[in-house]
Amino acid sequence: MARIDLLHRLAIQTAEREHANLRRRLRVVEHAEGPWLESNGRRLLGFCGNDYLGLAQHPQLIAAFKRVADDEGVGSTSAHLICGHRREHAMLEDALAEWTGRERALLFSTGYMANLGVMQALLARGDLCMQDKLNHACLLDGARLADAELKRYPHADVDAAARQLASRPGVATLLATDGVFSMDGDVAPLGRLAALCAREHATLMVDDAHGLGVLGADGAGSVAAAGLGQREVPVLMATLGKALGCSGAFVAGSAALIDGLVQFARPYVYTTAMPPALAAAACAAVGLARRDGWRREKLQSLIARFRAGAAQLGLPLMNSPSAIQPLLLGDAQAALDAAQALEQRGLLVTAIRPPTVPSGQARLRITLSAAHEEEYVDQLLDALAGLPKPAPAGSLV
Ligand SMILES: *Cc1c(COP(=O)(O)O)cnc(C)c1O
Repeated sequence: MARIDLLHRLAIQTAEREHANLRRRLRVVEHAEGPWLESNGRRLLGFCGNDYLGLAQHPQLIAAFKRVADDEGVGSTSAHLICGHRREHAMLEDALAEWTGRERALLFSTGYMANLGVMQALLARGDLCMQDKLNHACLLDGARLADAELKRYPHADVDAAARQLASRPGVATLLATDGVFSMDGDVAPLGRLAALCAREHATLMVDDAHGLGVLGADGAGSVAAAGLGQREVPVLMATLGKALGCSGAFVAGSAALIDGLVQFARPYVYTTAMPPALAAAACAAVGLARRDGWRREKLQSLIARFRAGAAQLGLPLMNSPSAIQPLLLGDAQAALDAAQALEQRGLLVTAIRPPTVPSGQARLRITLSAAHEEEYVDQLLDALAGLPKPAPAGSLV
């Protein structure tokens, strides 16, 4: 029998996505200035980035980045355990541990790798990894890589999670959840999950990629906002590429957790440390995110303005207190059409389609930032008012 050609098979799969209106496409951004983007020679107002506090182009971040690049060069030249772990990394880890109220923190080059690393270090074959159905893709991939039994409970359904846990007595279990869900913007029921994990002796892990910087008194995130500490949430992960405006990620927790990750998290051990200049920029970002309470306040007031306006227009808002304010449209083509109509009016909002979101739940993932102004939000609302009304949810088959 003829052997299947892998590249041919891949091309067929890509063509199938095209037919289903699910093909993903790259866009080249020629220039970015705050929320403004230039693409295909046009200036667009962006509502799709994750720079929630407007720090990505802050002069202090740029200055820290340049200073360390001038002194130390660009690349870290090796993995952390060889000679890539620089003073800037150590300082950033201390700052992150202090901010999140943890004993220690450990840097990873990306959030994706941090989640793979944590799960691979903590879990073994035969263990259970319980996850919210709407968790970020890399948490799911982490459980698979670790060869653990992956069980997904319905979104935010603590009772269902409790039943699943009770059906596996005596099995070592990690329960992992997004703090703020990346495509829905809602916050996980962290207090109740923490109580469940304490009762069942399961370990709770929170991925706070979209909560850090945005929620909590000094921006320490959704876990701090829920009044939980290291004891209740022993594994806290967050990224530096969203509200902090940089790139990279970290895991924070007990000294024992961090020591173990250094030994066993392969995505930590076998990869090049992030550039020290980037760590210096992230350190500056942590300082600003903590100090500049006005950024969180401005963001919250823009969120409130958007939600009030959208409600008035009868738009299908989701239950989100965060910077992520999706409009559920259902059909992939409807979401694409809406995004295109907005772009014609100079607004860039991405249509998020399956498999990133469940089938029939395509949406516009609108994100707000402290870099936006009230009139930008009004401009967005104006454009949304001009879109064809989405079919009522009941009519979706
Ligand atoms: C963005 C994101 C990640 C991945 O982080 P990167 O640093 O971009 O790799 C992980 N988890 C969640 C919830 C995210 O939104």
